[in-house]
Amino acid sequence: LVVIDHVEKHYGDFHALKDINLTVDPGEVVIVIGPSGSGKSTLCRTINRLETITSGSIAIDGKELPAEGKELAKLRAEVGMVFQSFNLFSHLTILENVTLGPIKVKGMKKADADKEARRLLDRVGIAHQAEKYPAQLSGGQQQRVAIARALAMHPKIMLFDEPTSALDPEMINEVLDVMVDLAHDGMTMVVVTHEMGFARKAADRVVFMADGEIVEQAKPEDFFTNPQSSRAKDFLSKLL
Ligand code: ATP
Ligand code: MG
Repeated sequence: LVVIDHVEKHYGDFHALKDINLTVDPGEVVIVIGPSGSGKSTLCRTINRLETITSGSIAIDGKELPAEGKELAKLRAEVGMVFQSFNLFSHLTILENVTLGPIKVKGMKKADADKEARRLLDRVGIAHQAEKYPAQLSGGQQQRVAIARALAMHPKIMLFDEPTSALDPEMINEVLDVMVDLAHDGMTMVVVTHEMGFARKAADRVVFMADGEIVEQAKPEDFFTNPQSSRAKDFLSKLL
């Protein structure tokens, strides 16, 4: 579903992504972990071209991502993204936050978009808060709204960049539970997270990055019990 082929990314002189090759199959859940500054967010952001790449190619569903233009907007709509900060529009209600994309980008009728948004809000456990504003919700609730908003575009793949790292501990699980449900429903997901419980429950594969490179990839049970590289061993020893 996603094929990343020999991707390089520079920020000026800084080499942020080095020869990244990664394929994500339909329905697969891939966890990306690695030290701070290793390029995890950059990788996520290149997948829907929020960042330009220096060379290489990224294809989604067989179509190579163009650098700009209408085609990019169309392909980008197929990629849902959830960030550490929830990025909800504070002046819009929860319902309006979720219906904005479908109405503006997909030209959906308001009544249809509302109906679909309420179904998704119900799915993430926020059905009763639809008329509230983001500031009236807890962090965990806001993040679940952000997930519903991304799902409203019917993406082919969902990208999550540390979706729980800004949350208070007691709210982390309510967001992870929604993500585990999504994974079990067959959503294709790339998730940057240090939540090892989630990785064990939902991940098909762990990708370990360091210094802009993919250092190793393995099934979670293999990676956590038997990491191959010294950098992965070192990283895991600090994590546990
Ligand atoms: P963290 O775990 O802290 O979120 P990360 O693995 O997500 O780290 P990135 O945010 O992808 O790391 O950053 C990778 C490297 O690229 C870092 O060294 C960072 O300083 C650099 N970098 C990121 N964005 C930019 C930018 N816009 N301009 C210049 N350098 C950048
Ligand atoms: Mg990051």
